[in-house]
Parts: sequence; structure tokens; C-alpha cells
Amino acid sequence: MLSVFCSPTRYTQGRGATAALGREMATLGLEGPVLFIAGKTVISRLADTWAASLSETAVCHTVHPFGGECSSREIERAKTAARECSARTIVGAGGGKVLDTARAVAADLGLPVVNCPTVASSDAPCSALSVIYSEEGVFQEYRFYRKNPDLVLVDTQVIAQAPPRLLAAGMGDALATWFEAKTCVAGAVQNMRGGNSTCTALALAELCYQTLLADGAAALQAVKTQVVTPALERLVEANTLLSGLGFESSGLAAAHAVHNGLTAAHDTHTYYHGEKVAFGLLVQLVLEGVSSATFEKVLAFASDVELPITLAEIGLSKVTRDQIDPIARRAAAPGETIHNEPFEITPELVADAILAADALGRGWRKQNS
Ligand SMILES: [Zn+2]
Repeated sequence: MLSVFCSPTRYTQGRGATAALGREMATLGLEGPVLFIAGKTVISRLADTWAASLSETAVCHTVHPFGGECSSREIERAKTAARECSARTIVGAGGGKVLDTARAVAADLGLPVVNCPTVASSDAPCSALSVIYSEEGVFQEYRFYRKNPDLVLVDTQVIAQAPPRLLAAGMGDALATWFEAKTCVAGAVQNMRGGNSTCTALALAELCYQTLLADGAAALQAVKTQVVTPALERLVEANTLLSGLGFESSGLAAAHAVHNGLTAAHDTHTYYHGEKVAFGLLVQLVLEGVSSATFEKVLAFASDVELPITLAEIGLSKVTRDQIDPIARRAAAPGETIHNEPFEITPELVADAILAADALGRGWRKQNS
């Protein structure tokens, strides 16, 4: 198998980066008309800056309000809007679901795509795939595209204004990257792009983990104070770029599959992707039988940055084995990334690991309360 590494064409990050959008697009030769896909709050906050920035390069644009879920129906609605304005570039601005929708629309229409995450809540912005949900928010499928975004532009001033819980969720997603990457590399399984991992991707995944440990707590504090600091800049880069490159070019394993299983339980729907991935990582570490020192280091970090470490903290209090079984079956479904683990996976094994991770998390809470 060949080794494959993928990344966005250009990654731009910094305070006030939104004002440079027009110039950054021009640098890459991205042309108008541009269709922006964004939620209402982001539109009211950034539309004036987009207009000013794109007017510098005389590019016209249309803004399409996002419907709230990255579903097949929403993708079709945005494609209609893109055709109506003869869009030649799609720009998604917002959280993971908005950006996933923008990439799906651009891929279907064969157009370049710019991703402007307004929160550092997941590692999706740099990737060449989307996670598609039903209208009700249940995980349905991954869609893979030919190429990564042409430009990922991150305005840390905007990130600093976002709810702190979203930054923490991004740390949950990024926390799993190194562990899932290591598992995939050890098993020599295919990464998300159909090749072997590279030393580069694995090193970036490890740097992601080290950056979280070093800067996570300070970055969370910065967002609570709504300020941009060097720790926040490094952490945003870890959540967005390092985690994105790490997972896509090294691969996913049990943590994300358990996340997908958890979405089958209605009570977890108000919790973010990264929050469920953080718990999924605990399950992965139990499955893999890591040392208690490694497990406790992850627990301590997760707790420090206010990530969930028990089932109750992702909406599943007083769970019974009967409630866990469908989650475990979904996590262990054929084709899931949990099968990248180097041993045979059964729903029973996963259900046991979920309950064990929960018990360890509860025990840790009791000891440290
Ligand atoms: Zn993820």
C-alpha cells in the first residue's frame, strides 16, 4: 500500500483574519460569484466584513442562511442557491455542520471551497469529508471528496468570542487524534484517504496531543475572558489544523466509532461531537487496555478542560445494559473505524468497555471532588 498525506491547499489563521478573506482567495485564484453558507448569528456578525473584504478584489457574493443540520435536504437546498447565483466558489462560515455542508455542496458542483470556522469545536474544517446526519441529527454516513478545502481561514478574534464549551469540545475531538492515529499506524490500516500513514501525519498527531496538554487550560481561560493569547493561537491550530491533518492522514479508530454509536441515543443529541468523542476515547483506552497512568493523564486533562468523562455527563444517567447494547451495536457496525483496532471487536466487548469507562470516570470524579 502506498503512503498518502492530504491537507488543505492553504491554511491562514490569526486575529482579524476575516478581513483578509478577499486577498487570500485572490492569492489562490478563487473567483466570484461567491456563495456564503452561514448561520444567522454568523451572518449578522461577519457579513459587513465579508462585503468589505471581497469588495477589495471586486468579487460579488450571495449569502445563504444555513438550515441547522448537515443533511441531504440541506445540501440540496444550498446547491440550488449556488446554481441560482452561478457561484464559482463556495465559502462556509460557522461550526462543523455548516462547513460540512459547504464541502458537500462544492464537491457536488465541482467548485472550490473555503472553510472559515467560527468555532474551534472540531477537526472537520481541513478535511475532505463530511459527516451527514438525518434531519433528526442521527449519524448517517461519511461522504468523501476528491480534495481538501482550497483555503481554511481561521479568525482567532471570532473564536475568542465563541462559547468556551465549543473550544473544549474541539479539544475532545483533538484529544482522540493521537490515540486513534497510533492505533491505525500500529495496525498498518488504511487512513481516511486510502493509503498508509506517514511519519509526518503521526508526528503532527503527537504534536496535537502535546499542544493540548500544554495550552488547553490556558486557552479555555482565554476564551472565557474573550481574549486572544498565544496559548489560544496554538490551541486553535491544534484543534483545527493538527487534529485535522492527524486524523485524516493517519486514521480513526474506536473513539469516533463509539461517538457514532452514542448518536443513536436520543439523550446525547444536545452534546457536541467532541464531547462524545472524548468519552469515546476513554472507551477506546479501556478496550486497548492502556496503563492506568495513561488513562489517568487523559482523564485529568479532560476534567481540567471541562470535558465529559462519564455517561451521565453526555446525557445518559442511570443507564442499563439494555440502553448500552444498541449504542455498542452501532459502534461495532461493519465498516466502522472501530475495526481498525488490532483485535476482534464484538458489540459485547464494546458494551463492557463503555460501562467500564463510565465506572472509571465516576470513580475519578468521586476521588477528585
Ligand atoms: Zn471528530
